[in-house]
Amino acid sequence: MRSDSFDAIVVGGGLVGAAIAWGLQRRGLATALLDEGDTAYRASRGNFGLVWVQSKGLGAPWYQRWTRASAAEWPALAEDLGARTGEDLGLRQPGGVHLCLSDTEMADRAARMARMQAEAGNHGFEYRMIEAPELRAMLPGLGPRVVGASWTPYDGHANPLRLLHALHGAFTQAGGAYVPNARVEAGQAAPRDFAVTAGGRRFAAPRIVLAAGLGNADLAPRFGLSAPVRPQRGQVLVTKRAAELMPMPTTTIRQTQEGSLMLGDSMEEVGFDLRQSPEVMRQIADRAVLCFPWIGRLNIVRAWSALRVMAPDGLPIYDESTRFPGAFTANCHSGVTLAGAHARLLAPMIAEGRLDPMLDPFTAGRFDVRAAS
Ligand SMILES: Cc1cc2nc3c(=O)[nH]c(=O)nc-3n(C[C@H](O)[C@H](O)[C@H](O)COP(=O)(O)OP(=O)(O)OC[C@H]3O[C@@H](n4cnc5c(N)ncnc54)[C@H](O)[C@@H]3O)c2cc1C
Repeated sequence: MRSDSFDAIVVGGGLVGAAIAWGLQRRGLATALLDEGDTAYRASRGNFGLVWVQSKGLGAPWYQRWTRASAAEWPALAEDLGARTGEDLGLRQPGGVHLCLSDTEMADRAARMARMQAEAGNHGFEYRMIEAPELRAMLPGLGPRVVGASWTPYDGHANPLRLLHALHGAFTQAGGAYVPNARVEAGQAAPRDFAVTAGGRRFAAPRIVLAAGLGNADLAPRFGLSAPVRPQRGQVLVTKRAAELMPMPTTTIRQTQEGSLMLGDSMEEVGFDLRQSPEVMRQIADRAVLCFPWIGRLNIVRAWSALRVMAPDGLPIYDESTRFPGAFTANCHSGVTLAGAHARLLAPMIAEGRLDPMLDPFTAGRFDVRAAS
């Protein structure tokens, strides 16, 4: 079969693959973006939409720095994609809060935030623990059970479906080849020389990026890499549009640009089970109503579950194969938050053919898993 030749192949058209593919194409690399399609697990179509920093990287300050760098890249990403596609990504970065419903939760949170600040060292980490009276002025309608919150200025949210749509749109407008219904199962690998067959076509390139979400676990060993990711289920509820305005997102409640509230999200270790569970939905709704009692008056209009792409330690995996240089992996469980970094920092590294040493702590070698041949 004749091959279509590209400068780069990206496998997986979710938020991670699309951000990288767009970043590569933007730098002038002819890129093919191959996506399995509707039968695959697709976290990018079922997430919560936070661009979230404050909970990231306890015990791993390099992850905190990478997440902060991504949040800082987001405004330029949103502006660039907006100018090219006309899509308003709904980015708002007013800061965010993690609400605490008991003194124990507040004390635990305070200890966590203090540790993160200490670990950040010279890089700094700005946060405040805010007691209920001050918090009530910041967040009208707060329930009496809320005793306080942690706040950082770095947090925000965006519309994740518009982000995905805009990444695909900008990519194809710039001449990128998006190929849906193209599941990659195997390929030929040699240093800086890769070929895969998908969707009845053969694609060849000197670089390949495996960004197939949960599909990476099977795919990575075929390219001398390892991606020991597992599914973790999350459930999300959406209310009808509210008259009330929520000035900033919380870890589990955010108001969309259109006015609906999104409530969630759970962290359930249930394998590939995508069913929704009434008990978990009830817990999500109960906690939301404790935080803001007026939410109890709003009907739920939609609910879903989706599977996160989770590494054993919850951190991203970025790697280049030592056996087959030019083959890269990219996995993470915060693909909305990290879209800025993926498009604007990681893609240029891949284009240059070398990951920056700042990403060394993210290699799969940290799990002591030997990349299969
Ligand atoms: C409930 C929930 C809430 C979340 N909330 C947030 C949040 O608030 N903020 C945040 O930053 N992140 C959040 N996330 C995480 C975020 O959604 C994921 O990190 C991100 O979507 C992962 O993107 P991905 O491209 O790696 O994976 P996916 O979206 O799963 O995409 C993988 C793609 O690869 C394709 N594929 C798979 N196998 C193959 C193959 N063999 N060949 C070709 N294509 C293949 C699939 O078709 C799919 O399109 C949440 C996730 C969930 C589930």
